Amino acid sequence: LRGDQESLSPGDKEIEKALRPLSFDDFTGQKKTVENIKIFVLAAKKRGESLDHVLLHGPPGLGKTTLSHIIANELESTLKITSGPVLDKPSDLAGLLTNLEEGDVLFIDEIHRLNPIVEEYLYSAMEDFRIDIMLDSGPNARTVQINLNPFTLVGATTRSGLLTSPLRARFGINARLEYYDAKLLSTIVTRSAAILGTPLDPEAAFEIARRSRGTPRIANTLLRRTRDFAEIKGNGRITLEIAEMALNALDVDQNGLDEMDNRILLTIINKFAGGPVGISTIATACGEEAETIEEVYEPFLIKEGYLKRTSRGRTATDLAYTHLKIKPKPGGQS
Ligand code: ADP
Repeated sequence: LRGDQESLSPGDKEIEKALRPLSFDDFTGQKKTVENIKIFVLAAKKRGESLDHVLLHGPPGLGKTTLSHIIANELESTLKITSGPVLDKPSDLAGLLTNLEEGDVLFIDEIHRLNPIVEEYLYSAMEDFRIDIMLDSGPNARTVQINLNPFTLVGATTRSGLLTSPLRARFGINARLEYYDAKLLSTIVTRSAAILGTPLDPEAAFEIARRSRGTPRIANTLLRRTRDFAEIKGNGRITLEIAEMALNALDVDQNGLDEMDNRILLTIINKFAGGPVGISTIATACGEEAETIEEVYEPFLIKEGYLKRTSRGRTATDLAYTHLKIKPKPGGQS
């Protein structure tokens, strides 16, 4: 349910592709960001120049990859996709860059995880569209300068705080994607159901939307699983009753928190007296990676008011106690 791409089956991947919006007009929400990027794209096209480099940041599943596809489509150019951890050596990057045609869009996902040596090569590529490549080593070592076709780099990151300042400074456009409200997600789910040819009642769409952690990828995943329930337990139509049955079976609770969200809150409350407690301690106790908790779970729990981040660690709020039906200890926490 996490909405990680890795956890999708091949069939799900096909569906995810079919559900991906292809134009700015198809893309729901993030209004201000989309309006701005639309103007920058139109201006670049009008001048016949490549679009300035774009940095997209925000939690997973909010549409960073989708937007990069749309930017390339609207520029009528080709999108090449890679990710920070995949670019292991400078030669990996050089190979990619020298193959770019004029105006191409290069998408680097998880750009905060670039190897620092590779990152340095990216600086001149972004700034001057050239790279200096070292040939041979020892006494024969020499550098050759290679000119690149002007291109647009779209970098995506879930952790903009981990980006180095020289890299950050080389992006002319910097946009943060926000969690979606239930109304927007309801529109997205309704559009997706129409593409899948699944009848979906409006109340059911809203119920799925409301319990999708503000994230389109999760909304689409829940829709697919709810569709399975509708086909097996019902007559194929997703009604409110079917949606509720499916969401409960998938351990998505009434407030849209999933099993891991609740485990994190329960751990802080039961094992650490409500906090404050450090993220790595929470991670060990929950059996999840600290990085995943910081990138995926925590931002949503903080936004919804279940968790507070203090200099001494994470603290469960009154809302977390109420949600889990646990009585706060007198004077135990804020
Ligand atoms: P990210 O790159 O931020 O992790 P993606 O761009 O891969 O997220 O989005 C995940 C899925 O959610 C996509 O397949 C797409 O179908 C859907 N999606 C994301 N944003 C939107 C949106 N604004 N409108 C409609 N669908 C969206």
